[in-house]
Amino acid sequence: MIKDSDFITSKDVPGPTKEEIRCLVLCKSQVSSDDLVIDIGCGTGGITIEMAKKAKKVIAIDKNPKAIKLTKQNIKKHGVDEKVDLIENDGISALKSIENIDIAIVGGSGSGTDLDEILELAISKLKPNGRIIITAILIDTKLDAIEKLKQKNISPEIIEVNISRGHILQRGVMMKAENPIAIIHGKIF
Ligand code: SAH
Repeated sequence: MIKDSDFITSKDVPGPTKEEIRCLVLCKSQVSSDDLVIDIGCGTGGITIEMAKKAKKVIAIDKNPKAIKLTKQNIKKHGVDEKVDLIENDGISALKSIENIDIAIVGGSGSGTDLDEILELAISKLKPNGRIIITAILIDTKLDAIEKLKQKNISPEIIEVNISRGHILQRGVMMKAENPIAIIHGKIF
């Protein structure tokens, strides 16, 4: 895994998704070298780049032009620019012209109607044995994503991760907690 500090970052763009979470997303996705992956809400490019190192191709989508610019810098830095197509667009519009997806990652969407539509479209474009993975910080996104997968007859696996990092002080090691983040994923048959 790439260290968080090895990404070029910007105060205007969220990410990268923390190293340990990227690790879990990759592991749960069961990504292989034949897979077409789409990353909706690529942000800084954290998940895009890790996926690009393992998959056949990644399509990275973000509605924020600053995120696309930053992901472009990061894919170059990490030598995976040949494997990544960048699309500056809303996830909903972008998904309309993409087919045969093996893994769809939804890392940005907000909750409510946008999330509903993104999940509806992404699931409809998955190949047999395709996987959908949502990373969520908001309680609302977690609940909406779980409901949607159930509605589509996908039985979701839901995990929530609370990472704490140790900071070495003079009088001992102090653990500091990161935000809890949920990884919700499912497979279609
Ligand atoms: N996984 C990323 C961080 C994602 S942050 C990383 O590792 O760097 C979430 C991103 O989702 C933001 O950049 C935001 O612009 C984008 N986003 C939110 N809603 C979106 C939508 N409807 N379509 C496309 N991108 C969206």
